[in-house]
Amino acid sequence: MNDKLVVSDLPDSELKGKVIFLRVDFNVPIRDGKISEDYRIRRAVPTIDYLVDRGAKVIVASHMGRPRGKIIKSLSIEPVASRLTELLGREVKFVGKVIGKEVKNVVDNLKNGGLLVLENLRFHIEERNNEPGFCKELASLADIYINDAFGTSHRAHASTFGMASHFSVRLAGFVVDRELKFLGKLLDCPRRPYSVVVGGSKIKDKIHALKNLIEKADQVIIGGGVAYTFLKAKGINVGDSITEDEMIPWVKEALDKYGDKIVLPVDHIVAESFENRKNLIVVDDEIPDELHGFDIGPKTAALFISSLKGNSTIFWSGPMGVFEVDDFSSGTTHIAGAIALSTWRGTTTVVGGGDSISALRKAEVLLSEISHVSTGGGASLEFLGGNELPGISILNDKKN
Ligand code: AMP
Repeated sequence: MNDKLVVSDLPDSELKGKVIFLRVDFNVPIRDGKISEDYRIRRAVPTIDYLVDRGAKVIVASHMGRPRGKIIKSLSIEPVASRLTELLGREVKFVGKVIGKEVKNVVDNLKNGGLLVLENLRFHIEERNNEPGFCKELASLADIYINDAFGTSHRAHASTFGMASHFSVRLAGFVVDRELKFLGKLLDCPRRPYSVVVGGSKIKDKIHALKNLIEKADQVIIGGGVAYTFLKAKGINVGDSITEDEMIPWVKEALDKYGDKIVLPVDHIVAESFENRKNLIVVDDEIPDELHGFDIGPKTAALFISSLKGNSTIFWSGPMGVFEVDDFSSGTTHIAGAIALSTWRGTTTVVGGGDSISALRKAEVLLSEISHVSTGGGASLEFLGGNELPGISILNDKKN
């Protein structure tokens, strides 16, 4: 449950004229200076609007990519500041710096409702290292701290953690609040029946989330590369498909304990190799030696779709195959479509972890056809694994 104080819990009078440090997640893909996917920027708009409409002076800060303390022009936040100007229809200042006199000067001259976007926080190595002097300097710019960067909340960096302790008012923005509500509900009293669909390539990356979710869900549907370790653990030949042998002991235990609720693929689209995929075939059950399974087969897609019917809650994480290429995207497209249809039928649908947004886009599912698309890949899995996220724990509790 979300017990963190949210920006809307503060009286408007506490915001007017105050300088807010708003940590957002603007880590969006940029190619040749153009933003190719702006979902995370659009998601940040309601919190920004809320603050400027109430006369706050807002400093918006984010990281982008992994510049490791170096100034890398292609990782500048400047294109995001321009995009934000278009989205908001208001003036957005950009200084090209994170700290220092120039920044201080612009902040001092912000009018009520004014907006300033800082340069990429990770151009300073002190950000990742949570360096105390850097935290103090960032914090000295503002009166109130707001975290709306759910996707980075699992990192104890300067802007997500260290600087927050310098403020007495440390609030969640609307993005963080929504994430905590939807993801919290998946762990805590989801509407039942409740199904979890897991895919992708690695169990290891999602083991904590998987352990937690297998226990709580009524049904766990497993596809993608992850399924082959489950099938191998059952003694089914998976050929040369991707497997994680070190996970087999845990998988066997899970199958023993929760086998009744685990649904696995019954056929596969296989090829000699990813590069040599001229002769794609569909095989039932066992995969012959030297062949790789790269997508779930049509019978599996039908089985998964029928298993998803009638659920009240569905959580999906990870593609059903190597969806990046058309040859192996059919399973992911079918499941994405079935989940979108479930939303229309009244199911609460949540998609998160890994590269879910690309999978939905590839399947031509509108993000608005899913009840909640998490902005945090790693952070959502950490949260679902029951781990405390430093960027969330540091925020004020509602009861205080
Ligand atoms: P993850 O980060 O673990 O969610 O994995 C996402 C990746 O899993 C995607 O890039 C897919 O291409 C990959 N993937 C899905 N199914 C398979 C498969 N059967 N074999 C190899 N890779 C897969």
